[in-house]
Formats: sequence, structure tokens, C-alpha cells
Amino acid sequence: MKAMILEGVVPLDGSSGPLRLVDLPMPKPGPDEVLIRVHACGVCHTEIDEIEGRTPPSLLPVILGHQVIGEVAECGTGVTGISPGSRRGVAWIYSACGSCALCRGGFENLCRNFRATGRDAHGGYAEYMVAPAAFTYKIPDVFSDAGAAPLLCAGSIGYRSLKLSGLKNGSVLGLTGFGASAHLVLRLARFLYPRSPVFVFARSRSEQDFARMLGAEWAGDTDALSPEPCDVVIDTTPAWKPVLFALERLRPGGRLIINAIRKEAADSVLMAGINFEHHLWMEKEIKSVANITRADVREFLEIAVSMPLKPDVQLYTLEEANQALLDIKHSRIRGAKVLQI
Ligand SMILES: [Zn+2]
Ligand SMILES: [Zn+2]
Repeated sequence: MKAMILEGVVPLDGSSGPLRLVDLPMPKPGPDEVLIRVHACGVCHTEIDEIEGRTPPSLLPVILGHQVIGEVAECGTGVTGISPGSRRGVAWIYSACGSCALCRGGFENLCRNFRATGRDAHGGYAEYMVAPAAFTYKIPDVFSDAGAAPLLCAGSIGYRSLKLSGLKNGSVLGLTGFGASAHLVLRLARFLYPRSPVFVFARSRSEQDFARMLGAEWAGDTDALSPEPCDVVIDTTPAWKPVLFALERLRPGGRLIINAIRKEAADSVLMAGINFEHHLWMEKEIKSVANITRADVREFLEIAVSMPLKPDVQLYTLEEANQALLDIKHSRIRGAKVLQI
């Protein structure tokens, strides 16, 4: 099978990209696994964090990709309830132990033995992949393969951030950063919390215009003053500057949710300027979002069907994966990037 592999941690710069097209033997599913013929795989900013070593793969070379839609080609001997030919998705959670206190308490996303698709096990930048059957999802018919792929990460983790934010219908939501996840969060928030105004803080004018087009009541630069303070801000940027600005824009008792697997170090020195009275006093909170649970994915897919939520998608071929990653890094094309395989 054809696959794009990452052989080592490298800076993602220049114009060629770090992934190499290779021919690999077909993977075989274990007893509790399914073999999936990949139709579409979303490209995520987290892959850049893997490539550049902020969340390095535990497996090298590795096939990246954790927003996978495909058709079951073969089931392991112990798999029940899934048959060859059915459409399934694989998300960031590849497996968790299932027996620790966190797993039993509904926090399998925080399990010590959490394994991530395309980081700790091979993912979907390939013609085929193997996944534990219990960690695959039925994909509702209303979605195309490419339209469903971004729902599995950008959408699902966006949904988890919204859940953790505790937003109530009518309270003010701020979004700082406006990439693939934030644009789905905005649409989700408009649907789940129709009385909540959404303010978007984004650097580029085109992102601000896009946000207004999708229903943001106001959009401005990262450091601009919103028309009123926010009850909740969700940060999806890789930088620190937006964190400080977001804390300033929170109401007393407000909560900042950081939805980023890692922050880049370039401007971390700014955090030395944090001022307790200005940024944290009055019971302001900061909470990170780590990974996702299977329940997040399932709940979110159900909501996405009732909307229905169709992400704006930019298509690439498998061989163009490097280009897709570079386009994300340089925010060249808005919306979600998907490899059609
Ligand atoms: Zn992702
Ligand atoms: Zn566990």
C-alpha cells in the first residue's frame, strides 16, 4: 500500500516538506481490530507539533493522520457488530487502557496509557490502516467522506472545549484564533447557544471576514477590545500572546479554555508579564483541553447530523500531504484540509 511516512522530528520549513511517499506491506488486523481502506484523512495542526517535536511520535517511522474515514476491508476474528464494507471513522484516541480510575470515571482522554492515532500507532496518511474496532465510529450517511473527516478532530475537540467552557445560552463566547477547529466551534455555538454572541479575535482580515460570515457578532485583531467582556474564551492558537489578551477580556468568574496540544516557545517570554490583579484576580480560570473521549466523538457526530454541520474543506491527494501541512503552517487556505485517498 502507498503511505506518506515521517522518519524523524524535523523543523517544518522550506518548501519540500518532511513526509516521504513509500510502498509498505498491507497491515493485518489483530483479533480485536479492523483493517480500514482509507477514503479521506484530515490534516491537523497537531501533525505539525508531531513533526517539529512538541508532541513527538513514540513510533518512528510513523504514518500520521487522526481524522480518518474509510471502509472496513477486513475484521479481526474477535470483532462483532462491524462488517466488511461498512463505513467507519478513526479519531485521535486510538486506545486507552479501559481499567484505570480515569478510564472508569469517563476520562479515558487522560489515561496514562492513552495512545494517539498517527503518533503512537499508524494513522490515515495511507491507503489502509488498522484500528481497534472499539475505537472506531459509525459515520452518519449525511456526510461525505471528506466532509466527515474534520468532524473527527477539529469538530470533536471543539465540542469538548465548548463542554468544558461551561458556556450558558446567552453568555458571551470569545474565540481567539480562527482555524479549522474554531470555525466549527463557532457554528456549533450558534446552534447550541443561539442567544450567545460570539466574538472572534484573529490576526488576519480574511479570518475576521470569514468569522462574521459564519455568524460572529464581532471580529477583530488578537489585541482588539471586544464590544463587551467575554464569559468564556476558547483559545486555539499556538502562541502565548493571545492567552494574555484573552485573560484581560474575561469577565469576573470567566474561564479561558486552551485548546492546543502544545504552545510554541517563540513568544513564551510574554507570560513573564502576567499580572495577578489584571489577568487572574476575580476568580478567572484557565483550563486546558487534552485529547478526546469516544463519547465526545459520538455526541458530537449526533449534534453535527442535526445541524447539519458541513465543514468548508480543501482537498489534497495523498502525495500532496506535505503541501497541505505547509499550507496549515502558513495559514494559506482557510477551512479544513483533507487528503482524499
Ligand atoms: Zn487533530
Ligand atoms: Zn486508563
